[in-house]
Amino acid sequence: MGKIKFEDLPISEESKKAVADMGFEEPSPIQEKAIPLILEGKDVTGQAQTGTGKTAAFGIPAIEMIESENKKLQVIILCPTRELAIQASQEINKLSKYKEGLTILAVYGGQPIDRQIKALKRGVQIVIGTPGRVMDHMRRKTLRVDDVKMVVLDEADEMLDMGFREDIETIVQDMPEERQTILFSATMPKAILDLSRKYQEDPKLVKVVHKQLTVPNIEQKYLEVKESAKLEVLSRLIDMCNPKLSVVFCNTKKRVDEVVAQLQSRGYFADGLHGDMKQPQRDRVMNKFRNGTVEILVATDVAARGIDVDDVEAVFNYDLPQDEEYYVHRIGRTGRAGRAGAAYTFVAGKAIRKLKDIERYTKTKIKRREVPSISDVEEIKTSAFLQKVKDSIEEGHLGKYIDFIEKLLDEDYASIDVAAALLKMSMRQENKEEVEPLSDDIGDTGAEQGMVRLFINVGRNNKIQAKDVIGAIAGETGMAGKLIGKIDIYEKFTFVEVPKEYAKQVLNIMKNNTIKGKKINIEPANAR
Ligand code: ADP
Ligand code: MG
Repeated sequence: MGKIKFEDLPISEESKKAVADMGFEEPSPIQEKAIPLILEGKDVTGQAQTGTGKTAAFGIPAIEMIESENKKLQVIILCPTRELAIQASQEINKLSKYKEGLTILAVYGGQPIDRQIKALKRGVQIVIGTPGRVMDHMRRKTLRVDDVKMVVLDEADEMLDMGFREDIETIVQDMPEERQTILFSATMPKAILDLSRKYQEDPKLVKVVHKQLTVPNIEQKYLEVKESAKLEVLSRLIDMCNPKLSVVFCNTKKRVDEVVAQLQSRGYFADGLHGDMKQPQRDRVMNKFRNGTVEILVATDVAARGIDVDDVEAVFNYDLPQDEEYYVHRIGRTGRAGRAGAAYTFVAGKAIRKLKDIERYTKTKIKRREVPSISDVEEIKTSAFLQKVKDSIEEGHLGKYIDFIEKLLDEDYASIDVAAALLKMSMRQENKEEVEPLSDDIGDTGAEQGMVRLFINVGRNNKIQAKDVIGAIAGETGMAGKLIGKIDIYEKFTFVEVPKEYAKQVLNIMKNNTIKGKKINIEPANAR
């Protein structure tokens, strides 16, 4: 891991502010190497795996080189798919947050071309698009490239795999001679090197190489967890494993703050550590962690570098690390001084591929673990509780209590029933926070993906409008109104879609509530 900060890079204050807002603490290795070279005007070929921050590596210099008075197209970025083009444009939008008047547009197939043409006519300085659609616009002369100073081929290997070679060459050949050509790719097969040789001038190769690190000998597991279920799964794991101290790793400061707030609101002793904190503040948190007042430390990679606590029994990779090396550093926070430790990594969807990279790099096997169910957690908690009961019997001094129980038995209650009732009562006490079911427990409601469709028994006849539904749900549950999805209002009832992860909460809170003064009944909808 480098020690270079964004502060140390030759980039504008606006860019520094933007990356700070995005929660980036320091440049990733590829960013640290590529940004200065691209800013110097060199043609750069960058190689690094997925998720290493390549977008910002070319995005920041691209933004920096835009002449703001010139409203013509100055940078073209080619991406293999519509999703990647959208993703890159979103990232670059965020990176350019403080650049006044910068215009960016994503163009890709599948979107009405008229709309893109209209937007292009208004003047766009950075275009991010798929090769097919970009070529289309160039032919129609809706994209004029006379002032283009930089061309970026993003995920070049993937573009070639998808058969875009000719399109790419046609586009690049049409660009002004005097330009910078940047190429980013996860792999460097011969075809990529050919492209580089043909279209780049004296290219500088930047590559993120890993140094081999010793991997601690601890249990490594991964769980397939969707973003929306991460907090619940983390809570269950912590409840089950009951680690004395644990560290939860997130990729950004923002995430750290979020996760800390959520854990605290669930009653855990959690606190956060990130690079923005001043030394005294960090010392305070670390002291609390060392003496156990804080049991869960949520941290970024940078902040965790200084952590030298021996009793960390579990590490959770809440976010998959940006870099294989980070993974090793992270899990090295546990299993210290020969103690036992475990590392749990949350992954979802395609990111599993990255996990394979980590396995290859660390030469260890990360085993899959099922997400613990509520009954698993219950079972573990119950047996821990029963252990306490046994301890208490061993300890003795029960005379006074035995007298009370004998009175109950005289009333003809069976001793086993008495014991069971007491267990039930005290376990309830213990679990003040009942485990919340994952929203997966709600069946199909016919909602859009990731959403749950809820039925409410009020509608137009009650003069209900969409804003009333949003107002009531957002107001009562505290979730952001913009998260609420489709609302269909009928005469006597209404359907509203909410994100899965909020469904239980909305149901619980709204079931005793009113909308426009009318007491409502709310339940998951039946699938249509
Ligand atoms: P790649 O193109 O290499 O696959 P991306 O540019 O899409 O990677 O970045 C992956 C994720 O990492 C994005 O969510 C991005 O916002 C984030 N990211 C990029 N640079 C940093 C950084 N320096 N610190 C923290 N997160 C970063
Ligand atoms: Mg990328």
